[in-house]
Amino acid sequence: MINETHKPALRSWVATANDPDSDFSIQNLPFAIFRRQGSQEAFRVGVAIGDQVLDLGQPAVCAALGLDASVTAALAQPALNGLMAQGPAVWSALRLALSRALREGSPLQTTLQGALLPQAQVEYALPARIGDYTDFYTSVYHATNVGKLFRPDNPLLPNYKWVPIGYHGRSSSIGVSGQAFHRPKGQLMAPGATAPVLAPSQRMDIELELGIFIGQGNALGQSIPMTEAEDHVFGLCLLNDWSARDIQAWEYQPLGPFLAKNFATTLSPWVVTLEALAPYRTVPFRPAEDPQPLPYLDTPANRRRGALDIQLEVLIQTAKMKQAGLAPHRLVQTSYRHAYWTIAQLVTHHTVNGCNLQPGDLFGSGTLSGPTLDQAGALLELTTGGKHPISLPNGETRTFLQDGDTVLLRGHCSQAGAARIGFGVCEGTLLPARG
Ligand code: MN
Repeated sequence: MINETHKPALRSWVATANDPDSDFSIQNLPFAIFRRQGSQEAFRVGVAIGDQVLDLGQPAVCAALGLDASVTAALAQPALNGLMAQGPAVWSALRLALSRALREGSPLQTTLQGALLPQAQVEYALPARIGDYTDFYTSVYHATNVGKLFRPDNPLLPNYKWVPIGYHGRSSSIGVSGQAFHRPKGQLMAPGATAPVLAPSQRMDIELELGIFIGQGNALGQSIPMTEAEDHVFGLCLLNDWSARDIQAWEYQPLGPFLAKNFATTLSPWVVTLEALAPYRTVPFRPAEDPQPLPYLDTPANRRRGALDIQLEVLIQTAKMKQAGLAPHRLVQTSYRHAYWTIAQLVTHHTVNGCNLQPGDLFGSGTLSGPTLDQAGALLELTTGGKHPISLPNGETRTFLQDGDTVLLRGHCSQAGAARIGFGVCEGTLLPARG
């Protein structure tokens, strides 16, 4: 899994990529769909390097990289689906070609320099045409915290440690970072009331999640075993699963979330490949006293390195903070390594019944709350159901979101002896309810 593209000593001729704080080191090389800001250009594939985007939609760039016709055609598309469908050998070869071309001393520097655009001057589209979106529930801490609020006497349901819980979400309302949306209306049932009312949600929340993009799919009727599961995963991005808790509380039984979550979901534009994350593999969290996974969800490789140590944070910038020129304030810091179910287990479980995944399908990890309440990935948990407001440095407080609030998710991997791998930002803004 570790190869020459991961060497921490690699440096790029794009100087900003060598900044130790850059999200987009030469060891990262994530992909996005972009065009020049405000232009009518076609969206196409780009790769991040430092504060630049290398335009892979130009056939001359692909020719210089030595890419074949099918990869060149996929990189000119306005979505990553074509590249995703080609599989891990192609993704890996592309990564190697990009790594070599962007290194200090590469003979391609002069050719490629003209195909760089500053990230500050581009706009993004969704990374893929997302056919289907499934949201999981992989943090046992989130499941327990939320369970306590919704069902105090029965917080963690008995199936949790046996089956990766998920629901089928909605892809039409998924947007890319920068998304702004109106506070949703829905049926709200006040405590003690005898009938619900239709009104704007008063308990607007966020969910700190990772998005997992499926690469190659599987044929209907054929399962993906654990040993092959990660070959079907293209990469990861940040995902904010905006949630209306009051709508959710009234509607969620018996079939799960519906209108509480399908009005907006925001993704970061850059997809970090699983290969880039190889130095950050770790042992999955599962206490010895817990039931071990059923054999179809268990392999030695998964036990050894099925999890990923990705540092995650949530920041808020209220309308008042924006007016006063104050920087976003960090609410939470946690890590993906606390997840109970691994990506391979999600892929295998999703297909165990023969369900077919397709290139560009998206999984949400579920809210990635850590072991303590200050590592929780949702306001519902951080404020214990809205009972304990959070104080912000400018004197404002929050239980749930107010109109004009912007929420930012960030993620990165770093450790001694490996290059920093960052995810960029996933930003979204809550607008007032429509009249
Ligand atoms: Mn969610």
